[in-house]
Amino acid sequence: MCPVPDVFGEIDPPQRLLMGPGPVNAHPRVLRAMSADLLGQFDPEMTGYMNETMALYRGVFMTGNRWTFLVDGTARAGIEAALVSLVEPGATVLVVRAGRFGLLLQEIVERVGGRVETVDAEWGQVVSMEAIAEAARRVRPAVIACVHGDTSTTMAQPLDGLGAVAREVGALAYVDATATIGGMAVDTDGWGADVVTGGLQKCLGGPSGSAPITISDRAADFIFSRRHVEKGIATDDLDEGPGRRIGSNYFDLAMVMDYWGEKRLNHHTEATTMLYGARECARIMLEEGLETRFARHASAGRAITAGLRAMGLVVFGDDACRMTNVTGVWIPEGVNGEAIRRRMREDFEIEIGTAFGPLAGRIWRIGAMGYNARKHKVLITLGALEAVLRAEGFAVPAGAGVDAALEAWG
Ligand SMILES: *Cc1c(COP(=O)(O)O)cnc(C)c1O
Repeated sequence: MCPVPDVFGEIDPPQRLLMGPGPVNAHPRVLRAMSADLLGQFDPEMTGYMNETMALYRGVFMTGNRWTFLVDGTARAGIEAALVSLVEPGATVLVVRAGRFGLLLQEIVERVGGRVETVDAEWGQVVSMEAIAEAARRVRPAVIACVHGDTSTTMAQPLDGLGAVAREVGALAYVDATATIGGMAVDTDGWGADVVTGGLQKCLGGPSGSAPITISDRAADFIFSRRHVEKGIATDDLDEGPGRRIGSNYFDLAMVMDYWGEKRLNHHTEATTMLYGARECARIMLEEGLETRFARHASAGRAITAGLRAMGLVVFGDDACRMTNVTGVWIPEGVNGEAIRRRMREDFEIEIGTAFGPLAGRIWRIGAMGYNARKHKVLITLGALEAVLRAEGFAVPAGAGVDAALEAWG
């Protein structure tokens, strides 16, 4: 007989304040939306919600793209869907690498069978558009892939002019905007990006598990040119055979578009609860207004930077290209970074971020994203950090961080 597992209690997590690089606390309205009843996937109410979600995310992505919808899975699912659908085996892809997520794009392109060329910057810097253009002219890629905000370095890659560079060399431009969407302008049409993907758990203030995506007509035409129809799905289905077909079923964006579009061809079962959550994230953002929302994140970033500096800490990376919603800060000499994070969590119920790769153990990352990009949460975090630093023996001028942050909030 199997023992009955009756030893675990109901889920009742501590009320932590998540001030790292994501995930962050979800907006309560999003959590409420996610407790609504389920619907069948072809129920007209459900397909109505799907169409509304497409319309809302055009606003979020600042685009007129018809093909704007959700990929079910975390942000990485959106990245993988984009790259497996855009990159044909053997195709050259120019990857802009300036942090961990640039390396992730490279890894996915390699798995998909693309030939990777890179244009690089040190962690803490960004790549100039001139350097991207120069590399694109040299390697003539089919796809240019880049990250907008690379949370590993807290830098925001400038993307103005990306579309012009891509068009000049006949490439499609892909952007991973997971860390910035909802917090900084993700200007899909202004940049001229062909495919942009995101996630909910950063500045959109939702849980992880849904990846909003937008696709230009140019990119959609290319993806549909690789179309493959599963047998037994459509009444008139012609199986176009392997040919150039996309090397994934779940992430085949042609199939996903045939499901979200008028054809409504069955593919996966749309994740109803995540759709409710994603829809509410977008509603909240558009209600607040893009400019107001971006300004709120900018205030938070300014306040955190000023507060950290007033405490005598050194902020990581180039001031000229800082993300507004997450800030890296050097762990001072002689201070144990993990001991500080533990005290923040245990004494104050606040989570701040650690770092990856060359920055592991060297910087903390302090975020203020979505629902958490608020004055009181920033002040509480800085006040706690000050107390914790002092407890660990690092001298901090009393109250300086909070005072400076209050002043810088504006
Ligand atoms: C957080 C993050 C991701 C990863 O998202 P998951 O939801 O964990 O899959 C991808 N790209 C960037 C730039 C991120 O900051």
